[in-house]
Amino acid sequence: MFKDPWFTVQRIDEDTFAISEYGHWEKVHSFLLIGQRRAVLIDTGLGIGNIRKITDELTSLPVDIFTTHVHTDHIGCHGLFADIYVHEDDRDWLIHGIQGLTIEQIRKDIRRDLSKPLPEGFNPETYTPYQGIPAGLLKDGEVIDLGGRSLKVYHTPGHSPGHLCFLEELSGFLFTGDLLYDQTPVYAFYPSTSPADLVNSLERIAGIPGVTRVFGSHNTLGLKPEILEEVKLAVHYLQEKELIRFGTGIHAFKGFSIKF
Ligand SMILES: [Zn+2]
Ligand SMILES: [Zn+2]
Repeated sequence: MFKDPWFTVQRIDEDTFAISEYGHWEKVHSFLLIGQRRAVLIDTGLGIGNIRKITDELTSLPVDIFTTHVHTDHIGCHGLFADIYVHEDDRDWLIHGIQGLTIEQIRKDIRRDLSKPLPEGFNPETYTPYQGIPAGLLKDGEVIDLGGRSLKVYHTPGHSPGHLCFLEELSGFLFTGDLLYDQTPVYAFYPSTSPADLVNSLERIAGIPGVTRVFGSHNTLGLKPEILEEVKLAVHYLQEKELIRFGTGIHAFKGFSIKF
């Protein structure tokens, strides 16, 4: 695999790639799925490096951007692509900007705890999250054909109102965005999040049959499907103990944690 100073590119299978940013404390993953007719990039990373350079190396097909949700660390390079897709309930943030965080805070977060040098041409002082009008909307239950492979859309609100997960039924790969990942807490403590919705969404993805690997957008690349069994136990525990509301803190389970 070719080397890039900022991105780490890993081949998951023949036509599926993880494009990761381990130089930043958030350890963000974006995923490129190449079909026979169409390629999809799930999220575009932090916007520190030029992810378009990477996708151009990997495919000559047009690349559509599927947005798991409209947070800064997932839409960083959206502006380098023509066709952006998002769920309706995150559409306003894409067009008008994300609620709740000041630009000063965003700029502070983008440059702290770096373990790699920032790429030339990137200036955290002028960093501005992408805003633009999407080419289309993604709906729950929709199956998108890429030619020889397809992705099913799951609307999984909670972390953001329009958060999406994507399942490739053929391989059993489940891309969970910021709904489920390991090591650092999954967030539902901002005013714009919903603990109740997040737990419902977790319960829903835990019931998807045939998942072989779980790809969250942060930290460890690729989790074993057994984590979904732990998610079921966690949902039950949180319901039982009536913990599903703001301010109940960090709840740790085997392999992941949640902060309300
Ligand atoms: Zn997020
Ligand atoms: Zn994130």
